Amino acid sequence: MSRPDLLARIADAQAQRARAGLLRRLRTVDSVEGPHIVVAGKSLIDFASNDYLGLAQHPALREALTRTAKKWGVGAGAAHLLGGHRDEHAALEEKLARWTGRERALLFSTGYMANLGVGGALLGNGDVCVQDKLNHASLIDATRLSGAELVRYRHADVDSAGRQLRARPHAAAMLTTDAVFSMDGDLAPLVDLSTLCKTHNATLMVDDAHGIGVLGADGAGSLSDADLSQNDAPVLMSTLGKALGVTGAFVAGSTALIDGLIQFARPYVYTTAIPPAFAAAASAAVDIARDDNERRARLHQHIARFRDGAAARGIALLPSRTPIQPVPIGDSATASAIAQQLEVAGFHVPAIRPPSVPANGARLRVSLSAAHAQSDIERLLDAFVVVLGPKRH
Ligand SMILES: *Cc1c(COP(=O)(O)O)cnc(C)c1O
Repeated sequence: MSRPDLLARIADAQAQRARAGLLRRLRTVDSVEGPHIVVAGKSLIDFASNDYLGLAQHPALREALTRTAKKWGVGAGAAHLLGGHRDEHAALEEKLARWTGRERALLFSTGYMANLGVGGALLGNGDVCVQDKLNHASLIDATRLSGAELVRYRHADVDSAGRQLRARPHAAAMLTTDAVFSMDGDLAPLVDLSTLCKTHNATLMVDDAHGIGVLGADGAGSLSDADLSQNDAPVLMSTLGKALGVTGAFVAGSTALIDGLIQFARPYVYTTAIPPAFAAAASAAVDIARDDNERRARLHQHIARFRDGAAARGIALLPSRTPIQPVPIGDSATASAIAQQLEVAGFHVPAIRPPSVPANGARLRVSLSAAHAQSDIERLLDAFVVVLGPKRH
């Protein structure tokens, strides 16, 4: 029996993906100025960024970053537990806990790692994790890595989730959901999921990567928007890399949860702390995201304008009140061709294709930012009318 060669196998998989026209393409962005980017010498208005509040280039974040880098240097030099933890990390954790209305918060290097950390620390063999079918890849991977059984329920369907929990009455259970679904922009039924979890004694974990800074009173996120306390939603995870414009992530919840994660979350224990300068920049970002309601209002005006303008032009959208506003297309090749035409017209709007979305679920994923001008949005809608052609429904 001959042993398969791993590099030959991955090359085959890549060739197969290329034949299907589904290759992912890596491109270098030459410059960024607010929502304007330059790629391959061409200036584009960017509708792909998760920088929903336009904070990634904000002077207050730049100032906090450079001031703190002057103080500490660049790298933290060690994991949190081995000397990498500084005042800036501690202050940011306290600020995040207060903002989200939780007892404590704990920083991770990325949202992906935070999700792996929670899954690995809370779940193990014999347990079950019940997940929305459209959850982010990192949540799926977290359960796989934990050894718990992964079962999925129909998208945003509380009855379907309930059936999955009832089918496993004796296993320790977590129910995990994106708060804002990253490829659809719609919201999870958080209040009903919270009630369901209480009924079945399951632990609710909410990934609010796209809600923090965008939704809720003072931008505190989807749980604040749904008025769910720490008791209602015991595990909250969010990233610092999207609306907050930096990088890193956090988990927030009870003291018992955070103390447990510090001991048992391997992606927390065995990795270098994020640079203190990033923690300081994120802290400045939280101040703005919490206090600058005008900036958030501008984003929501853009969302309303985009949806009204699409309706007026007969462009079908998905039900979303968030900055994620996908234009459904279906066929992958068509979606790619439309993305290409939009680029020629001066807009960067990525085509999202399988496996990131279900088969025949290709779409143009428009993401809006407070940094956009009203005219950017009107021009994008006009360009969509041209590229989608006369039959748009
Ligand atoms: C982006 C994203 C993550 C990962 O966060 P990073 O900080 O970018 O690693 C996790 N969950 C969801 C739903 C996301 O959209």
